[in-house]
Amino acid sequence: MKIHEYQARQLLADAGVPVPSGAMVESVDAAVAEAKKIFDGGATLAVIKAQVHAGGRGKAGFVKLVKSVDEAKKAAEFMLTNRMVSPQTGAEGLAVRRLLIADGVDIDREFYLAITVDRARNTNTMIASAEGGVEIETVAEENPDAIIKTPLHPERGLEPYAARAVAFKLGFEGKQVGQAVAIMMRLAKLFTETDASLVEINPLIVTPPSEGHPNGRVLAIDAKFNFDDNALFRHKAIAALFDPSEENPSELRAKEHELSYVDLDGNIGCLVNGAGLAMSTMDIIKLHGGEPANFLDVGGSATEEAVREAFDIILADDRVQGVLVNIFGGIMQCDKIARAIVAAAKEVGFSVPLVVRLEGTNVGAARTILEEARRDIPTMVTATDLADAARKVCAAVAVPA
Ligand code: GDP
Ligand code: MG
Repeated sequence: MKIHEYQARQLLADAGVPVPSGAMVESVDAAVAEAKKIFDGGATLAVIKAQVHAGGRGKAGFVKLVKSVDEAKKAAEFMLTNRMVSPQTGAEGLAVRRLLIADGVDIDREFYLAITVDRARNTNTMIASAEGGVEIETVAEENPDAIIKTPLHPERGLEPYAARAVAFKLGFEGKQVGQAVAIMMRLAKLFTETDASLVEINPLIVTPPSEGHPNGRVLAIDAKFNFDDNALFRHKAIAALFDPSEENPSELRAKEHELSYVDLDGNIGCLVNGAGLAMSTMDIIKLHGGEPANFLDVGGSATEEAVREAFDIILADDRVQGVLVNIFGGIMQCDKIARAIVAAAKEVGFSVPLVVRLEGTNVGAARTILEEARRDIPTMVTATDLADAARKVCAAVAVPA
């Protein structure tokens, strides 16, 4: 599960990581009121940031530094009325519903600091770089030596000596070292305690020297956190941060009905039981020149209710020009599944071609049921095997561009 930056900043602040203060707003008026508070308090700089589950906001114009209430108002108006398009959003972009208005800070240096699961090493790993602010993927490609990876101890987590070594390698000096180490230790604790899969601060910054802070201050000014969905049951406060408006509506609906659904770009809807079978169904569609519109696993049992819901979700996608049902009846018998498909298809009403391939226990009885239902579902075609099914559905839809 992803959360917004303003929520991640709160978690950081609660964990003792210094973050400039700020507030989340959902309207231009509220943005203006918050900006007034900041400037009336004597500040000369504020930052307005779109809150969406995608990065690359800075370059897209959705992180703006402002010096007056009027500038804040203009930035808020722009962000709340334009979709944000960045390399992470796709061409259609994302609507912005929430903004963060925060104290702006002067920056001396920007760093990258994150903890995530390193699947190659089977450890939680801290990743740090003195080349912060930019995308870490770019640094990894162009200058891999600039990335410092530190595995966390499986029981002790991040150890203070390891954090200190990283702070020195990053070039922190004087009092900055202690601040950076404290931030790393707190971030590591937060990562473990919340069952996070990613906690990323990009950039972590050092402010220029000031009277009270001759070495500057180390602050987190952007944060991106992901959490393990399977552990959310033990983190009610984090689960409550979920923002459904940032999710794909079909995927949300599928989740409610315990279907595994992933939206894709093609025009052939797939309804399959079992994740492995769903993957091979997508492969074989592609092999025959088609493009799947989705991955959908109704689960082993494929009940009538699940199939109906799955059909509804697939057909709600107006790019879908044909549907392939590929079900293997193992424990569940094919005739029961055939009845479920027929009942669901009749209820949903099919205007696009529906190709059905069933295999497994009681497949003979299942074929008879489908044959008899053809009067009621005129767009339905049955297939003898998976290759035949893929050929038929690919022939039935327009060839993708
Ligand atoms: P992202 O582009 O979505 O990762 O958004 P960030 O919050 O990381 O902002 C992008 C960049 O804007 C940062 O790397 C900074 O260079 C700059 N920026 C963000 N907040 C401030 C701020 O308070 N003061 C200054 N001077 N620059 C900022
Ligand atoms: Mg950033």
